[in-house]
Amino acid sequence: MAKILAVLYPDPVGGYPPDYARDAIPSITGYPGGQTTPTPRAIDFTPGRLLGCVSGELGLRRFLEDRGDTYVVTSDKEGPGSTLDHELPDADVVISQPFWPAYLTPERIAAAPRLKLAITAGIGSDHVDLPSAIGHGMTVAEVTYSNSISVSEHAVMQILTLVHDYMPAHEWVTAKKGWNIADSVSRSYDIEGMDIGVLGSGRIGKAVLRRLKPFDVRLHYHDVHRLPEEVEEELGLTWHPDARSLASAVDVLSIHTPLHPQTMNLFDDDMIGAMKRGSYIVNTARALIVDRDAVVRALDSGQLAGYAGDVWYPQPPPSDHPWRTMPHEAMTPHVSGSTLSAQARYAAGTREILECWFDGRPIRPEYLIVDGGGLAGTGARSYTVAG
Ligand code: NDP
Repeated sequence: MAKILAVLYPDPVGGYPPDYARDAIPSITGYPGGQTTPTPRAIDFTPGRLLGCVSGELGLRRFLEDRGDTYVVTSDKEGPGSTLDHELPDADVVISQPFWPAYLTPERIAAAPRLKLAITAGIGSDHVDLPSAIGHGMTVAEVTYSNSISVSEHAVMQILTLVHDYMPAHEWVTAKKGWNIADSVSRSYDIEGMDIGVLGSGRIGKAVLRRLKPFDVRLHYHDVHRLPEEVEEELGLTWHPDARSLASAVDVLSIHTPLHPQTMNLFDDDMIGAMKRGSYIVNTARALIVDRDAVVRALDSGQLAGYAGDVWYPQPPPSDHPWRTMPHEAMTPHVSGSTLSAQARYAAGTREILECWFDGRPIRPEYLIVDGGGLAGTGARSYTVAG
């Protein structure tokens, strides 16, 4: 029997919710392009409930315990005395979420001789050291597409929030009890007519482009692989041969690439300096794609008019992380991919991956990042490993 270790974010401060704002979530069976939503044999949870936190347990406890497996769920993941480090040495499977990542470093992987499967309940497996996972003979899988539309909606929301300067206006009527129209509008613009760019036109990037099209903006993108001509025509896209060409052409840039050696620290002082003065960056991909302090410097100087996103490094960030206090930001914690709608899909996808694993059936290639001693499936297309 297997030991499954899940590292999930803590419960709400007020405790696990007894009820919810809405009674149900829409039933979605497929994604753009034809991929189906997860198809586990069964689920033991109610879609729309909080599943990603410790008490939600991704809805897996009954399934695993009925099989005779051991299921350990914790949020305690940092430092040598953490429950993660204590439970890891005899774990067969580790489940973690990008929102509260169990960083599977080379040292942690070496300390887990039985570890064969790392599942990301969500999308983005950069918290797993992929070269070490390959060397260890592990499979790394994630629930591709489960929260892509959720993130795309969040990115569009943050673009509008920044350009319209929503956050200070909200603060004037709530925290400051004022009615300060001039203060509220002195940095407020429309996106209509602006040049907006997407870096990485994969599942999320393409969904962002589609959602922005009705706003009458000029859309640009860069990706390693160019989109089909009919998609470029339908959305009126301008393709750029590299990230720099894209960055310097747009008023707003939304980042949607994975974090891997090619994208690490891509937006440094030099790249941000190549953008138009007063540009905006929205980053819902990974924090380390941008240079943390270069962003702060650019906001202070006015080179950037705003920065928003939901990804930080490390997660959770320390209380003195400079992005908590920098000007002209609209940051959230890492939540865009963990709406209740998304949680139902990534919990079901995690169960599907486990069922395949236990049955010895192949995991869908679109869920695979590492398998068979190398990058595989989606991982082989979208990731690189150094060396
Ligand atoms: P996809 O793999 O569908 O898309 C990523 C795209 O980025 C692909 O088209 C890929 O190219 C492209 N790409 C990779 N490297 C580069 C590069 N160096 N330059 C330009 N383009 C590049 O992933 P998703 O859209 O589903 O997700 C994207 C990222 O968003 C995830 O890796 C994750 O880090 C983040 N994410 C964040 C979430 C959140 O809650 N904030 C939730 C989900 C994901 P190609 O495949 O054509 O080679």
